[in-house]
Amino acid sequence: MPDVAVVGSCMIDLITYSSRLPKPGETLLGLKFEKGFGGKGANQCVTAARLGASTVLVSSLGSDSNGQEYLKKLEEENINTAHIKTQENIHTGVAQITVTSSGENSIIIVQGSNLCLSGENVIEAKKHICSSKVLLCQFEVPLLATLEALRVYQGHGTSIVNGAPAVNNVDPDILRLADIFCVNETEAELMTGMKDLSISTAQQAVDKFFSLGCNTIIITFGAQGAIHASSKNKTAIHTPSETVKAVDTTGAGDAFLGALAYYISNHPGLSLQECIKRSNKIAAQSVTKLGTQTSFPSRKELPSELF
Ligand code: ADP
Repeated sequence: MPDVAVVGSCMIDLITYSSRLPKPGETLLGLKFEKGFGGKGANQCVTAARLGASTVLVSSLGSDSNGQEYLKKLEEENINTAHIKTQENIHTGVAQITVTSSGENSIIIVQGSNLCLSGENVIEAKKHICSSKVLLCQFEVPLLATLEALRVYQGHGTSIVNGAPAVNNVDPDILRLADIFCVNETEAELMTGMKDLSISTAQQAVDKFFSLGCNTIIITFGAQGAIHASSKNKTAIHTPSETVKAVDTTGAGDAFLGALAYYISNHPGLSLQECIKRSNKIAAQSVTKLGTQTSFPSRKELPSELF
């Protein structure tokens, strides 16, 4: 019986480092190349697993070498891969990332096999999904798969939807079915139409999210931490993050969400604010290291008071 079921994406990150971005039509000599494991679904699942949650990932890989490598990696992370489908004749999702010496980046995502994740795949995984204490979804797989997961899971535990990458018009059923809806500042601005959203104007955004049909809402604000408001009193409460020396904030949101799923499933006695406080600490820890999954801490690296 898993603590956390994630229905989401797996992407291989192909990261090229260069002095600058190429102009249209230009070929540049790069400085360095790295291949990494990414995709919001897998990232969040890996975080929860490293903190000690038993996890199952419902996802879709291609039948290429990237897909085979990813499956092996997920098994090494102790993630249940029984519901990872290998799709024939399609490549594993890739994110082609260019990072310049000045820290600028450009990213092209080709979803590939992630687009094959279907409602049927979710139904096949129903037993695992419904026996989990937390269901975690994002917006990198087809909407129908996410909706099916939220529908079958209703009444079985806490569902969390991370509204990322940013979407303009989120299906109202998603907002209604998610017990917790979590976005970052930029995603919140797009969804609410607010400009220059800040902690001090967060109540306005929260009110808008409630009018859209959300239950509990969380907005993350990078180094400033997160605000949340529950459907009960609808008041935005700020939980600051840790002050750390940030070296790479890629994947901070995924570390936060994976940690949140861990705390809600494994520490049912904690208040939501305490779960957020501890998730801030896990995410803050991740920004002190380079990379995405490589920066997510495991339980043995963390102070015992977090558990
Ligand atoms: P995303 O990665 O989706 O853009 P954020 O940048 O809002 O998400 O970061 C998510 C969480 O990661 C924050 O709520 C905070 O807990 C933590 N975090 C991000 N950047 C920093 C930072 N520079 N210092 C400390 N914590 C950070």
